[in-house]
Order: sequence, then C-alpha cells, then structure tokens
Amino acid sequence: MILGIDLGTTYTVTAGIDGDGRPVALPNSLGETTTPSVVHFEAADQVLVGSTARNASAVDPDNTVTLIKRRMGSEFDLFFHGVRHTPESISALILRAVVGEASGVRAVVTVPAYFGIREREATFQAATLAGIEVLELLSEPVAAALHYRTSVPDSAGATLVYDLGGGTFDTTVLREGIRGVEVVAVDGDSHLGGADWDARIASHLLESFTRAVPDVDPYEDEVFLSEVTVLAEKVKRELSRVSSRTVALRCGGASAAVEVARETVEAMGADLVDRTLEITRRVLRSARDRGVLRVGAVVLVGGASRMPGIAKALHAELGVEPRLVEPDFAVAYGAAIRAHQLASPGELRLAGGRMASMADQPTRSVVSRSFGVLVDDSHDPSGEGRLVVHTVHQNEPLPATATTRFATIVDEQDRVRVQVYEQAGDVPSSEPAHNRRVLDGELSGLPPLPAGSHVEVTLSVSADGLLSVTAREPASGATLALESYVDGVVDGGAHAELATSLAGLRVSQ
Ligand code: AMP
Repeated sequence: MILGIDLGTTYTVTAGIDGDGRPVALPNSLGETTTPSVVHFEAADQVLVGSTARNASAVDPDNTVTLIKRRMGSEFDLFFHGVRHTPESISALILRAVVGEASGVRAVVTVPAYFGIREREATFQAATLAGIEVLELLSEPVAAALHYRTSVPDSAGATLVYDLGGGTFDTTVLREGIRGVEVVAVDGDSHLGGADWDARIASHLLESFTRAVPDVDPYEDEVFLSEVTVLAEKVKRELSRVSSRTVALRCGGASAAVEVARETVEAMGADLVDRTLEITRRVLRSARDRGVLRVGAVVLVGGASRMPGIAKALHAELGVEPRLVEPDFAVAYGAAIRAHQLASPGELRLAGGRMASMADQPTRSVVSRSFGVLVDDSHDPSGEGRLVVHTVHQNEPLPATATTRFATIVDEQDRVRVQVYEQAGDVPSSEPAHNRRVLDGELSGLPPLPAGSHVEVTLSVSADGLLSVTAREPASGATLALESYVDGVVDGGAHAELATSLAGLRVSQ
C-alpha cells in the first residue's frame, strides 16, 4: 500500500493513485473521504476516531481530543483511563484509523512548511507508532503545488499557496525551474484557522440565544455548548454556499431561531482575514529578496479557504484571481503522487498521459525557522542576560551552513556549553523565551587561554532539514559535534512505552 496522507489539524485524508493514473481519496470504514482528526477514549481499551469521536465529544468532552496537531513537538501529556498519551500517540491513533488494518503501508506524510524539526520528528514518530513506513515528510504547500502543477500544467511563473486549514495558516511561495520545484519562502501562523471562525460564530449564536431567551443561561449547559460548537462549524460551511442561514437553538426547555448572514460572518472574521494578508505580505517580501518579483498563480488549499471572502480579499490584495483546486484533497493528492514517485521512480503515469515529471525531481526548500546559539549578553550590566544569536535564518535556501565566532568569558575557561535554539514564534526574536532549545552539548578540554578567545560554531541544515552542529577551538583543534538529539521529542524508552499502550487499544470509527 503506497499512500499520501494529509494529517490535518481538523481532518485527515489518505489518497492513492487509481488504475487510470488519477489521484483518489480513499474512503474510511464509514465511506467518508475526510476523517475528522478527533480521538475519543471510550474505555480503557476502546478508542473512537473520526466522526463518531466528534459526535461523542458532545456528550463526553473530557475524554475527547481535538486539534492535537497544534501540540506536535511539544511536551503535552494527556491521561485517559489512567494511561499516558502524547501528541505523537494521539496522532498515531488517527493514522491507524485511516490506514485501517492494512500492513506494509508506505506513505508520504505531509507537514506544514513552517513546522520546525521538533514537530517533524514528532510527526515521524506518530507514523512509526502507527506502523507506517514514512517514505518522506513532505511540506503541505509543496504537495498542493505538485497536484496543482500536474492538473494545470501550463501555469507559468511563481506560485503562492495560501493554505487556511482548520487550525493552521500556512503560506508559501514556490517557483519551478529546470532543477525542480523550489520553495522560495514560507511563513504562517500555527494558531489561526477555520476553528477561529467557528468560535466567533458560536459566540454569536450564544449571544443571540441569550438575547432571545434571557431567562435561560446557555453557558451552564455543557452539552448545549458543545452542540453549538459543532453547529457553528456547519453554519460556516453552509455560508460558503448560501448567503444566509437560520439556526434553531434549543436549551433549557426554550428555543430560538437565529439568522446568520454571510456578511455578518465576514465582518466577524475581517480581522482574521487581515492577519492572513499580513503574513502573505511578509512571505512575498521574503520572496522578493530572493528574486521573485511577482506571482503568476495563487492556489487556495485548506478547507477554510472555501469561504468566499478569502478569494475576494486575496484578489483585491494581489490582483490575481485565486484558484481553488480541490482544497480538501490537494495536499493528500500531491502526497500520493510523490509517494508513487518515491516507491517506483520514473514509472508513474498520470491520467491524460501527463508524466509527473515535476514530482520526479527533488524539491529544494528553505529553512523554515531560524537557528542560533545562546550567548551571554555582554551589554547587560547585571551579567545575567542571555540572548539567542541566530546564524541560520528563516527562508535561507537549503542546504544552509554558517560558521560564527563566539568568545570565551573568563581566563583559562576550559569548557564552553553550546546550546542551539530554534525560533519558536512566527517571527525570529533573540529573546530566549521566543526560542526553543533543540541541541545541547559541551565543548571541553580547552587549553588555558585568555578571556575573549574564539570558539567557532558551525550550524548546518541539510537539504531535508536535518540540523547538525560543530563547535571548534582553533588553537587546540578541540571539537564538539552535537548529536542530532532533539529535546522534547519522545526518546527510545518512551516510544516503546507508548507503542505498548497503543497495542492494547482497539480503534474503530
Ligand atoms: P483542513 O484543515 O484543510 O482540513 O480544513 C478544515 C477546515 O476547513 C475546518 O475549519 C472546516 O470547517 C473548514 N471548511 C471545510 N469546508 C468548508 C466550507 N465549505 N466553507 C468554509 N469552511 C470550510
């Protein structure tokens, strides 16, 4: 089984290539082609995934997990029926549900372009826990662009991919050259997506209900609140099709009919759209620095980019008509195309005789987040200040390498601690709290030297995003090569423990 898997914040999609060379979404056991990324722990040994889990969340929200993708790469333990779970194990359950009982699954799994190494590592571990062999972790916009370019082959110029999913926003500029597809710039916000619109609509529904029925307090009724959240998402989807919708709300024996107009929702979400436009401007500025002066195509992916206001706002901003190409499936389709290329290079023939030559070529990408070294801030009079000096910068082409000289602080310093940090927020900042430590080591055995002696630190990020670090004292030649150990991601022992607890769970949809 060779698959492309789009492990989404709100929905997960698996795709293959059919006998005619067409990418197809594979239905889950309920016949649905999109599976909600929701896990419900029904009993100690019984887990529900997908629509059934989402329905169960209305009655038992405490045993239900949603939006786990937002936690990937972070330490975030959850306990259900006395068993420890992590973002990796929850994601593994979703993956296990969508691939079913099949064994020998090989897949390309997609990740947002701005995922750092910790999130990528966590995604890789989730797939491994689910028994899936990962052929490649492919960046979502690259996957969307692969599908777009193979379905609209005559498009020219650079492409802007605008991906508004359920919980994340991701924007990328790509260009296609003789050496394959090149990601020129990436940017995004890991806490912005369709769910933010849902929350606004839900508040609007609750306020309208309270106005219509002042004697009933809907905020006391947990089940009703969950129902309203589910309803809000439904209303949002319907308003992409119709201009207004009336919702019947029943709570505490009272009922109210609330009319929601598309215009109202557009006004409620105007600041959210503005935030995506601000990030889009930022990614275009980064692309301009790398020679991309204009984009020829704007591709909309992610379910939430179906809201008509999105295309309108982008058209007004960029003067290019955005194309909505199967926003729910483009990423999984692109991943399926890539998976087949990787599994049997040169053999894939796409429908209509078009060869996926683009998918045959390697993709070149950029550094998704800046990396740097933690140093003492010599300008801080208290002597306590620390800052992160970024030496490999966001949106630099991969592979990237930088050697920087730092200085020892005291005479005869015999060791130097080397702590490498990755940018944690959407924009780089030297404040340690805005960065996360990814590697930590010590260069020891230094000869007796005066304070201010140099130590060279080289940070390298390979074409596939792997970080390696060496530190060297030039006088003695003492060298430290840091292991590619990533802080905060499940280690071998924890992996085995999670694998054991997952093996004891029955997963159904
Ligand atoms: P994704 O993460 O790409 O699967 O996107 C899921 C998000 O898209 C969720 O917030 C959905 O509510 C939203 N969505 C799906 N279909 C529509 C639609 N027709 N109109 C507006 N939003 C939608």
